[in-house]
Amino acid sequence: MLRALLVLLLFGCAPPAPGVVYVVPIGAPSPAELARAAWAAGRETGREVRVLPARPAPPPGADGRVSAGALLDGLVLGAPADAFRVVGVTDRPLGAPEEGEVIGYARLGERALVYSTDALSPGGDEAERRARTRRLVAHELGHTHGAGHCRAGCLMASAGTVRDLDHLADDLCPAHRARALAALQAVPGDPDWQAGVARERLRLGRFEDAVAHLREAVSARPGDDRLRTTLGVALMARGDLSAADAVLATAPDAPGARQARAALAAAAGDPARAVALLDAAVDPRRGRAAGVAYARRAVTTITFVEPEIVVAAGPLRVAVADPILPRRPNER
Ligand SMILES: [Zn+2]
Ligand SMILES: [Zn+2]
Repeated sequence: MLRALLVLLLFGCAPPAPGVVYVVPIGAPSPAELARAAWAAGRETGREVRVLPARPAPPPGADGRVSAGALLDGLVLGAPADAFRVVGVTDRPLGAPEEGEVIGYARLGERALVYSTDALSPGGDEAERRARTRRLVAHELGHTHGAGHCRAGCLMASAGTVRDLDHLADDLCPAHRARALAALQAVPGDPDWQAGVARERLRLGRFEDAVAHLREAVSARPGDDRLRTTLGVALMARGDLSAADAVLATAPDAPGARQARAALAAAAGDPARAVALLDAAVDPRRGRAAGVAYARRAVTTITFVEPEIVVAAGPLRVAVADPILPRRPNER
C-alpha cells in the first residue's frame, strides 16, 4: 500500500504505465547514486522502477575502461520479461569504440542504457546532482527511443563530458518530444515491443529468439508490412529461406520485402527474377547493381548498417531499409 502510494505521488496521481524499468547496479555504485537513477528513470518513463541485485563489473580493457557496448548486450539479454527499459549504473569508467571514454551509452532503438558515476562530478547539492542524473538518463533514454544527436538547444545534443552534460538543455525539442511520447506508449508484449526485442536479438545473432518475437508481433498485427518484412529477414538470418520468401511475399508492396526477396532469388539461382524485384524496389540503381552481382549461394550474413540491414549472399549485398527504426530525417 505504501509502495502504491509512493508510486502515485511520483507520477503525479496517474498510475504507472505497464512495464517496469529495471535499474541494474554494475560493480559498486553508491546507494545515493542508485536512488538518483531510480528517481530519474521513473520520472522520465512514468513506469514502476525496480532496482535489481548488483552484478560484478567485467574486467576493464587495456585502456582501463569497461566496454559500454558489452554491458548493453548483457543488459538486454538478461532483461526480465516485463522490462520496458533497463538502466545499468556502474562506478567504473566506460569506454566505447571510436569515442574513448563515455559517460553514458545506449544503442538507437534498443531498450538498454548504461552510465558511469565515475565521471560525474561530486560537486553541488543533492538537487544539482539529481538534475545532472536526470539529464543523463533522459538523454540516453532518448537514444533508446530511436533519437540520434540533435542541434544545440535540445536534450539530445551531443554531450561527451560532464561539463557538456551540465550545459545540456533540460528539455527535448518538439520533434524529439513527439518521438519520446510515441516510444513511451509501448507496452511489454505488444507488437511494437516484440519488434524492438526482436531487433536486439537480430543484432546479437539470436535469430531463433528474433523469429519467435516477430511471429508473436505478426499474429497480433497481421496487416503490418514492417513486421512481416522483419520476420522475413529474421527467417533469412536463421537460414530458413523458403519460409522467409513465403512471409516476404505477403508484403508485396513493401520495398524492403522486395529487396530481401531479390536476395533470396539471387541466392536460389534466379538472377532475372532478382533484378525484376529490385527494379520494382525504391532505389532501382542500387537494386540493379546488387541484382547483377548475383551469386548461387545461400544468404550467409546479415549486418546492421544504420539505418539499413545489409543482406549478403556471397558477393551479393542488398541493403534493406531497417523496418523497425523510424526514419530520422533531421538527425545526424
Ligand atoms: Zn548521446
Ligand atoms: Zn532534438
